[in-house]
Amino acid sequence: MDFLPLFFKLNGKTCLVIGGGTVAVRKAGLLRRAQGHVFVVAEKFSPAMKTFIQSEACGSREGAFEDSDLDNVQLVIAATNDSALNARVSKLAHERQLPVNVVDNPALCSFILPAIVDRSPVVVAVSSGGQSPVLARLLRARLETLIPSAYGRLAVLMGRYRDAVKSDIAAPNKRRGFWESVLQGPIAEMVFAGKEAQAETLLQQTLDDKKNHKTDVGEVYLVGAGPGEPDLLTFRALRLMQQADVVLYDRLVSPGILDLCRRDADMIHVGKARSNHSVPQEEINHMLVRLAKEGHRVCRLKGGDPFIFGRGGEEIELLAQENIPFQVVPGITAASGCAAYAGIPLTHRDYSQSVRFVTGHLKDNAPDLEWNSLIQPRQTLVFYMGLVGLDTICHQLIKHGLSAQTPIALVQKGTTSQQRVLIGSLESMPAIIRNEHIQPPTIIIVGEVVRLHSKLAWFESDHGI
Ligand code: SAH
Repeated sequence: MDFLPLFFKLNGKTCLVIGGGTVAVRKAGLLRRAQGHVFVVAEKFSPAMKTFIQSEACGSREGAFEDSDLDNVQLVIAATNDSALNARVSKLAHERQLPVNVVDNPALCSFILPAIVDRSPVVVAVSSGGQSPVLARLLRARLETLIPSAYGRLAVLMGRYRDAVKSDIAAPNKRRGFWESVLQGPIAEMVFAGKEAQAETLLQQTLDDKKNHKTDVGEVYLVGAGPGEPDLLTFRALRLMQQADVVLYDRLVSPGILDLCRRDADMIHVGKARSNHSVPQEEINHMLVRLAKEGHRVCRLKGGDPFIFGRGGEEIELLAQENIPFQVVPGITAASGCAAYAGIPLTHRDYSQSVRFVTGHLKDNAPDLEWNSLIQPRQTLVFYMGLVGLDTICHQLIKHGLSAQTPIALVQKGTTSQQRVLIGSLESMPAIIRNEHIQPPTIIIVGEVVRLHSKLAWFESDHGI
């Protein structure tokens, strides 16, 4: 971050605006909206500036800027088209340690002005760090459509109850849970519908109920985090990740995704590198139960989809037994993610009518599979956890009747910037792998559809297409 976003209290502070044109009027208007006292200096005031000064009863001086204009001001904005003057103002302000903004010149600024969504007291500020104000404005426009205009009224109501809630619900995480349920439930909806009195009654009643209540049981979200690229999360996954008090994640969940969890959530890493289960499965199952019983909202974050080779079923079995509320959020499984990003459709009218997801995990050093059912024609095979057993897989498929020339793809770290796709045949792939430094996780796709990669590959990673 080049600039730290802060919200500056201007009420009663004197702000100097240098410039008399329309840009200066806009900036001065912004300062007035935040209740700053505005003083304007410019060689010449445009008619718009004259009107502004009059209607807002601002102090002003028409004439050349003088160093002494900076005396007794707390913030400076230079909005002239005289670049030498702008540079001089910036230098003087920096010397006096006054916050200064020079319009359209981030290098001369000690602060920059964001694009603003104003639902006072809720204010959203968007900045591109001075790189592209147009981009910031486009984002703002999107946010405008997402944030109901009644958010301001909602915040005022919440503000009135802040102290009461603080004294009635002492534990900070319980308090957060209370506010989240208020903001995501019927109370907020009533405010949005203009029924504020009713909303307030319900808020008071909910708070009274809470006060007399015993410890609540928390809940568990079993969330699929997808194959690695954060953009492939579902909205629901993201919302629950940002709501959870505790996140239990495993090795496959990428750092970019972990970054999206709530900043102050407890992050617990529970495994699992191949044959190095840092926390045994049993223990994870019991941990989920214990944390939920302590009242936490627990997010169990797993790579891909929790119900595909993810042991998600085992984890929620115990929760169901213990009557702990849970929900399961599907994620994009590695097969779909990697196939899409490698330009290999898993089915295709001309080449493949079915697809099978198969575990290549070794049992007693060999994949223990029904080989005869895997060699059906016009079928795509996707092997998860198949790298170690790759030689055996290729060998057995040929032995049971697939052509040695059947195309096969190995996708490393699919969907991420480190994705690599290696293409070969059942016969050639074992040798190809031996000459490459392959990094986990990898997935293997076998079938005629792999031929489409050369035509349909679109995703460019650090390793190229
Ligand atoms: N539940 C996960 C699978 C867990 S098993 C899912 O639905 O995707 C772990 C295996 O998934 C890895 O051994 C690898 O075969 C595969 N895998 C997961 N993410 C991957 C990725 N980004 N690229 C390639 N393979 C991946």
